[in-house]
Amino acid sequence: MLRRFSSTSRPVITLARGDGIGPSLSDAVVHCLKASGAQLDIQEVSVGEQAYLAGHSSGIPPSAWDTIRRNKVLLKGPITTPQGSGYKSLNVSLRKTLGLYCNMRPVVAVSPAIPTRFPDMDVVIIRENEEDLYAGIEHRQTQQVIQCLKLITQPGCERIVRYAFDYAKKNNRKKVTCMVKDNIMKATDGLFTRVFREVGEQYPEIQQDVMIIDIGAARLANNPTAFDVIVTLNLYGDIISDIAAEISGSVGIGASANIGATHAMFEAVHGSAPTIAGKNIANPSGMLLSSVMMLNHLGQADVASRLHNAWLATVESGIRTVDIAESKDKAVGTREFAAAVAKNS
Ligand code: NAD
Repeated sequence: MLRRFSSTSRPVITLARGDGIGPSLSDAVVHCLKASGAQLDIQEVSVGEQAYLAGHSSGIPPSAWDTIRRNKVLLKGPITTPQGSGYKSLNVSLRKTLGLYCNMRPVVAVSPAIPTRFPDMDVVIIRENEEDLYAGIEHRQTQQVIQCLKLITQPGCERIVRYAFDYAKKNNRKKVTCMVKDNIMKATDGLFTRVFREVGEQYPEIQQDVMIIDIGAARLANNPTAFDVIVTLNLYGDIISDIAAEISGSVGIGASANIGATHAMFEAVHGSAPTIAGKNIANPSGMLLSSVMMLNHLGQADVASRLHNAWLATVESGIRTVDIAESKDKAVGTREFAAAVAKNS
């Protein structure tokens, strides 16, 4: 179904509403996009839990693939991956099939509006998005031994490392930190480090350092202001971006862009949070801020900054969902939060 905001010609994006809290977050975000004057039409696809149960092992029926491929830009609510074997992760399938090699996760504190111990936090995590243990290559070797292959390629490392340095240069960032475990995985993580150092030579104006992921994650949790841009492998990036979002105030405000040469996908960093689904309490900010990244990607920077400012004005005026509220009794629901952002747009 195509939802038209108005009749003039404009980009068409695909919306997957998602599972759990996904549909209510999607409704909230569509409401805000509309109010902000976004120049786009929306075509919805049904993917995720229902598609898995209908027998599509990737969670994506063929007609949805056609729409996603054609429209090139996907805004996605979180998806529940059913437990058990036989189901592939829909997120991994989308990222690999569409060649979304870069997962960009900016984490900026909004203090004092959103309480955090780190009011000056402003970190961008750039995560390799197609390789590593997430390549999904697992074998049973014997009854008692199962193997998961960690796949790292030189072109894959070069693409993401270059993306991180180019991003730092364009956005006037001072430092890029590479996080790896190359003291143990000398060949795979070692390749990532070597590429980081080689590519880094072409960006002498940017400070560079390499940290082992375990101490890197600890330092990030204790003093995130020491970091600027972080580039890392798929699994490490997945973990440290949830940590970063949580210490900036809540995992509910983490946004992300999955970028490839031809396609892009925008989604919150959190999952479908089934335990709070249907209660009108989930924070739509992660998906909303992802849609701001999408508007910038579509070349609608004015609308993006209007929507971002409307979101800021809302949280600064004390209107917040329970995960970021001053106290439980002052919290508003998902719909009420979205209505306030729309009003401020
Ligand atoms: P989760 O992120 O869904 O929830 C973790 C915790 O954070 C829960 O306490 C939840 O209530 C809270 N939370 C998450 N989003 C919130 C929001 N917007 N507002 C307020 N609180 C929020 O992680 P999980 O429980 O490990 O995973 C649940 C399901 O989501 C699983 O099936 C998992 O596979 C899936 N998942 C999907 C994605 C995705 O689609 N990109 C990402 C991660 C997990």
